[in-house]
This record gives sequence, structure tokens and C-alpha cells, in this order.
Amino acid sequence: MIRVDRSRKCPRTKKKIYPKGNWKKLASSATRKANKEKGKHQADRSVYRHKNLLAALKKLFFGKCAYCERKLNNLGVDVEHFRPGKKPKEEKGKHNGYYWLIYKWENLYYSCEDCNRVRKAKSEYDDEFNKSNYVFGKGCSFKLGKGGVRAKKPKDSLAKEKALLIDPCKENPGRYIRFGADLKPSAIAGNQRGNYTIKTLGLDHSLYVRSRKSTYETVKRLLNQYKQAKLAKNKLALRHAKTNLKKMLNPRCEHNALVQNMLADPIMFGVNLDPVNIK
Ligand SMILES: [Zn+2]
Repeated sequence: MIRVDRSRKCPRTKKKIYPKGNWKKLASSATRKANKEKGKHQADRSVYRHKNLLAALKKLFFGKCAYCERKLNNLGVDVEHFRPGKKPKEEKGKHNGYYWLIYKWENLYYSCEDCNRVRKAKSEYDDEFNKSNYVFGKGCSFKLGKGGVRAKKPKDSLAKEKALLIDPCKENPGRYIRFGADLKPSAIAGNQRGNYTIKTLGLDHSLYVRSRKSTYETVKRLLNQYKQAKLAKNKLALRHAKTNLKKMLNPRCEHNALVQNMLADPIMFGVNLDPVNIK
């Protein structure tokens, strides 16, 4: 997971990324309806899965899932509600879901089906989790931290919730989560938000670990080339390796967070090299 700046401007139009056409109008009208109906509101797919919205989300999130950073070209695409439209799983009291945020641009994220939907480990994944009935995928999970106050209506503060799920549009996930040599994420110093985010989305599932392998192998090969060029004092080869490593840091590439971790600590990933600083 990497930070995605929602105020980023499109380099071509110089404007903030936002759904084109009449989506804003459709979203406002659907929100008015939701605010009247509250918990009884049936989310309107024609608005929250509108093609203009999907196109804007794809651009904003570089065509990758906001959480697992896999490219969604060949995977099912979901529009994920960061705060769920239905009652949050952890909410014990009465709650109508975050009905007022169902069509709000800031609450909508580009996501794969595996991160967004609740999944039980299936035999097709053929991994260790099958034995433990590992359940992953966000669904309606949205747990609050200690002292957090649940927002129940449009005017309630979202900041006061102290949400545990790391928000890639508001903070740098790299402060909470890092990857190890086994390509699994872990919470830095065991922090609660990192742990909750990994567990809730299932980011340590072998499904994702497998997907990270090709990025890992490419970066490891480039780090070794960088190391050899440095030892041989071959400036041309060094520049070449640096250019290629820089390309891997392009947010359009998969698994940027892993690449950042590998450059910051090559030894951890099996390359005897000081941290590599690519400018
Ligand atoms: Zn995902």
C-alpha cells in the first residue's frame, strides 16, 4: 500500500482528478435520497459503479488496487467504500451504516475483489490458510481505536473515530507496515493499526505473496547489478541500474511499497549493500 494523493493534478489537464460528465450531479441526487432513507437505502450501483467514476478512480490509483497494489487489468474491479455503506461489522449498537458517504468521491477507492470482499480461504489457493479457515477481505469491517467515537450521521466528525484502518489517501502506509524477506507485510514495532490493516485485508495471504514475487526478483536482480557496477566503479552500468530501479519506483508499477523497502534495506532482502538512494 502506498500513499495516494487525492489532490494530485492530472499532468495533461492540470486539473484535480475527478469523475467527468454528470457524475457529480448523479452522486448529489443519490446522496439526498440516502440521507432521507438512511439505513433503509439501497445503494445505487449505477452511481457508485458509474463508468466515469471508475475511469477517474483508475487514473487516481494508477490502475492498481488501493490496498494490495496489484494491477487490476486482469482482475475484477470493485469500487470500495472506505467507510462501509452498511453497518460496520464491529459496531455493537444501532448504526445505519455510513449511508451519507456511499456516493462521496473521498470515500470511494479503487480495489480488487480480494481486498474488498470477505473471502474464506478456498481450496484453489492451496495454502497454509486452508487449514485454519483463514478469513480475509474487508467487507464491512471498520474498527475504531481506543477512545474513538463512531460517526452515525452526516454532521458527526470522522476524525474523532480514530479509525484503525490505514487510509492510503490521508497518510503514508509505510509508517505502519513494512515487508520482510518472505514478502509478507508486518506491523512496524507491532503497531495496532498496521496489524489491523494487514489482518482485515489479508495482505499476508499467499495470494498476494505470490503476486509480489516477480517485482521482488526484478528489484533483487537490479540491486545486484547496482552492487557489481559500484564494485567495478563502472559509472555507465551504475547509471543504468539506477535508471531501472527508479522505473520500479514509478507508482504505476505494482508493489511500490515493497520496492521502497528493498531499496531502504537491501541486506534484509539478501543483497549485501547499503541503502540505495534513488533521486
Ligand atoms: Zn487488493
